[in-house]
Amino acid sequence: MPCLVMKFGGTSVATVERIRNVARHVEREVRAGYDVAVVESAMAGKTNELVAWCKEAGSLHDPREYDAVVASGEQVTAGLLAIVLQGIGLAARSWQGWQVPILTSEAHGSARIAGIDGTAILEGFAERREVAVVSGFQGLHRPTSRIATLGRGGSDTSAVALAAALRAERCDIYTDVDGVYTTDPRIVRQARRLDRVSFEEMLEMASLGAKVLQVRSVELALVHGVPTTVRSSFDDPAEPKPGTLICDEEDIVEQQVVTGIAYSKDEAQITLRNVADKPGVAAAIFGPLAEANINVDMIIQVVSDDSVTTDLTFTVPAAEFERACTVLHGHRDGIGFGDLQGATDVVKVSAIGVGMRSHVGVAARAFKALAEKGINIRAITTSEIKFSVLIDAAYTELAVRTLHSLYGLDRA
Ligand code: ADP
Ligand code: ASP
Ligand code: MG
Repeated sequence: MPCLVMKFGGTSVATVERIRNVARHVEREVRAGYDVAVVESAMAGKTNELVAWCKEAGSLHDPREYDAVVASGEQVTAGLLAIVLQGIGLAARSWQGWQVPILTSEAHGSARIAGIDGTAILEGFAERREVAVVSGFQGLHRPTSRIATLGRGGSDTSAVALAAALRAERCDIYTDVDGVYTTDPRIVRQARRLDRVSFEEMLEMASLGAKVLQVRSVELALVHGVPTTVRSSFDDPAEPKPGTLICDEEDIVEQQVVTGIAYSKDEAQITLRNVADKPGVAAAIFGPLAEANINVDMIIQVVSDDSVTTDLTFTVPAAEFERACTVLHGHRDGIGFGDLQGATDVVKVSAIGVGMRSHVGVAARAFKALAEKGINIRAITTSEIKFSVLIDAAYTELAVRTLHSLYGLDRA
């Protein structure tokens, strides 16, 4: 029988009542003749609560114990869904990551899936038509016998990886919106749902802040060729809508120049004032940051007020801001800078579209439109199919709306 992986996010399993609704979606597919593996998240807000408890218990907590704690949310919902499915007459059982097993790397808190052995789940399909309810977000680091989690939003990745391992016909990601939109529909009412979006664009949108899918899940869907959809768990289970299909670029007929706008508040800006304008300075700055495993994104260099030295501005993930400042102060003598200025109230707004490959001046139009709204651009980066601007966080919505309209993405 063909196999399907269905993933349900936190809002979709937030209460037992919603879990009953999820069960009806599962029942529909089982009755349609699919062997179904379900991957679910913890109840909405649960993981945040567990993370906060870890911080309260110890600010510098052991990441292995953090994973032991935060993985527990998914254990609860898997068991509850299995109970509800059994209640409506379907064979079902829960599987924690280690039981499948889903094997991971040792990077606690942001582990990668190293392999999935789907044999036992497939046996359940073949022998009992048993729905497998798998806890998302978690797996086992076998050499240490430790539970590891896949980073926030990681259940998407569990689902796509499981779909690849079980050779599923499709991976359906059910969430609280009915597909991938031209931008976050929660901040732009005019956002439009996309029927299709290419893997490459989805990858950029996810890495530039669109939280609807975890980046790694899109990478896996692309690499393993897993047809993946994003759809709503709030649709009537009897009449589900198709949602958005993530597919190859060639399978999209109507291409816009810009497909979507994303924003990320997970940025911090650092400016080093009065850096000597001589060879080796960039290495002196970015070498120690790289050694400390801090990812630097946007970089700009301008001549300082004294016309002799330069000011170097760059961004790091907001969570690494303090650490980056400490590293830079520690290397102050080696680098030689006048002052270090930082800002965390910044946002990166990006426009994404494969059409940018063949059109010039796409970003220039944005700079003009943002200037007309009085929005100051602190830094810019561009690549083949996207550009990003760093601006004051207070202007997030205005900037996203401005670009959304500018590129003709508003709903009619
Ligand atoms: P889940 O708990 O189901 O995994 P998430 O909160 O992780 O759900 O992802 C869904 C949310 O992603 C939506 O509620 C929406 O606010 C947000 N989002 C951001 N950008 C987009 C986009 N371009 N299209 C759809 N949703 C988006
Ligand atoms: N529950 C986890 C989180 O909140 C994983 C997920 O929802 O995908 O990050
Ligand atoms: Mg999510």
